Amino acid sequence: MARTGNKTLQAKLVLLGDMGTGKTSLVLRFVKGQFSEYQESTIGAAFFTQVLSLTEATVKFDIWDTAGQERYHSLAPMYYRGAAAAIVVYDITSMDSFVRAKKWVREVQRQANPSLIMFLVANKADLEDQRRVGNEEGEEYAKENGLSFLETSAKTAQNVNELFYEIAQRLAKAK
Ligand code: GDP
Ligand code: MG
Repeated sequence: MARTGNKTLQAKLVLLGDMGTGKTSLVLRFVKGQFSEYQESTIGAAFFTQVLSLTEATVKFDIWDTAGQERYHSLAPMYYRGAAAAIVVYDITSMDSFVRAKKWVREVQRQANPSLIMFLVANKADLEDQRRVGNEEGEEYAKENGLSFLETSAKTAQNVNELFYEIAQRLAKAK
């Protein structure tokens, strides 16, 4: 993370998780305030910037979303390199995506910088009737592995701004 001005922090933030868990949708909800049921699974633009102004600092996020590489269940190390924060996403309606999220967590913990802020995010919380992964399961795993945890919905916007604000706040406090 580079300090670009008096109280401006620039932070690389990466999103990880299986295809279809809603990574792109979370970013688009945060950056554009939009949601689409027909979000293309691979999109051309995989890089977004967003500035959050807090009382402590201004945080400029460079957000790296994957453009389909996640289907191979491995990402190039350059994807994580220099990341200040990582969001690992699973879908509450898919136990497979939760199992895979744990693999992403381990991969990041192996490769990334130890001061990296990592969030485990249980997305699609609006699909309660199709839930396969209990809230406590996610919460417990996160706790045991030193991660922060939130349930979100890119569709209803539940906890989406909170997620990014929380990361920004922690980055601002760390610096
Ligand atoms: P990605 O492959 O991880 O980037 O996932 P996408 O953002 O492309 O989303 C995959 C599908 O899930 C799309 O059809 C989205 O509309 C849908 N989706 C994403 N987030 C949510 C959510 O919070 N709730 C619901 N109901 N659908 C979602
Ligand atoms: Mg995507």
